[in-house]
Amino acid sequence: GGGSGSGGGSRFDLEKETELRFEVEAGERVQLELLSGLAEVYGSELNRNKKYTFGPGSKIAVFTWQGCSVSLSGKTEVAYISKDTPMLLYLNTHAALEQMRRQAERDNERGPRVMVVGPTDVGKSTVCRLLLNYAVRLGRRPTLVELDVGQSSVSVPGTMSALYIERPADVEEGFSVQAPLVFHFGSTTPGTNIKLYNKLTSCLAEVFSQRCEVNRKASVGGCIINTCGWVKGSGYQALVHCASAFQVDVVLVLDQERLYNELKRDLPHFVRVVLLPKSGGVVERSKDCRRETRDDKIREYFYGFRGISFYPHAFDVRFSDVRIYKIGAPSIPDSCLPLGMSQDDTQLKLVPVSPGRDLTHHVLSVSCAEDDTEGGENRSRGILESPVCGFIVVTAVDTQAQVMTVLAPAPRPLPRHTLLIMDIRFIDLK
Ligand code: ADP
Repeated sequence: GGGSGSGGGSRFDLEKETELRFEVEAGERVQLELLSGLAEVYGSELNRNKKYTFGPGSKIAVFTWQGCSVSLSGKTEVAYISKDTPMLLYLNTHAALEQMRRQAERDNERGPRVMVVGPTDVGKSTVCRLLLNYAVRLGRRPTLVELDVGQSSVSVPGTMSALYIERPADVEEGFSVQAPLVFHFGSTTPGTNIKLYNKLTSCLAEVFSQRCEVNRKASVGGCIINTCGWVKGSGYQALVHCASAFQVDVVLVLDQERLYNELKRDLPHFVRVVLLPKSGGVVERSKDCRRETRDDKIREYFYGFRGISFYPHAFDVRFSDVRIYKIGAPSIPDSCLPLGMSQDDTQLKLVPVSPGRDLTHHVLSVSCAEDDTEGGENRSRGILESPVCGFIVVTAVDTQAQVMTVLAPAPRPLPRHTLLIMDIRFIDLK
């Protein structure tokens, strides 16, 4: 501290096209205020004389195109101004996409479908947020497709989703997630079940295309697809699959020339593959930090942002009232597979789970699939390809009484009775 800003904070004067980067210390909060000029956080404009609060571990960049003064109060781990940012390149990328939207509007075509790729911690999610914000600020209605099952910006981890963007992201909370379309994947890495991952990518692409047929603004707005940082082997194949499923027009490769060259080689020639530098401000996150972010995301689902908005409910669910499945049977040697069955089939198979103590702390998705759909293969596919309508966490299992206690966002009863189990666990410390 020790600056001369209002309220005892430190004051920072930023020249045009520079950014103030700061990290909030563990267990602390930092308040940011714009004192004069214009500034934005990842493409969301700051209002003058409003205090923005960021929680522990937040990593923030306040960028200004015109110059500004801001104040920070609270304990920051680091806080420094950088003149060296790739923002001009990102803005040019946005301008090129906007050009494509204008052309789409004129020629009655569809707008740009953009896939953002790169290893972990290169700022993929941040670039997506920036491009979506710039588009929506011009009145566009782009769709965010979130395929990062480890660090989803839309829903809880272990999900793949799409969100129609109608307003810029809130500076503190991110995009408002009123009605996302969410699919159950069940794990934080695509490698756990790559068949399912690719299948759900195709499902999202199909739903998005259907929406574009009936909604001209969605079609012109196009989509920005955020992907996982796993860019080798099957992870790379998943990117190629995604590009084809969504028929992407543009691929933005952050920070990895090799990946850029591979995609240029393997994608059809009409796909524009662009290499962009990562921002020097992007902070590498440790495994622990990643796990904490995931926990926060689940806590946020039940308790709301900063634990003040929602009140989750705890109640008992009888085993006999629900059907619990895991997607994907454990892989067995080819020679042991029943005649006519392939490994693919096992990865997309619904395996009934009989509730036991080991269910405790697991996150379960509540499938939107109708409870009374027909049995057999069709039902299986129906459940796999159905979106989810919410999540619960098992907090206790009583095998004697044949009931489990769950944490749910709404009071009983559960809206549906088909539950899908995730690898992911959440321990509620409230
Ligand atoms: P990825 O999606 O590639 O894993 P993210 O976009 O999530 O990476 O960025 C990693 C972290 O770096 C995030 O916490 C984000 O807030 C932070 N970050 C991104 N850009 C900047 C920047 N210019 N200055 C400071 N922190 C940044």
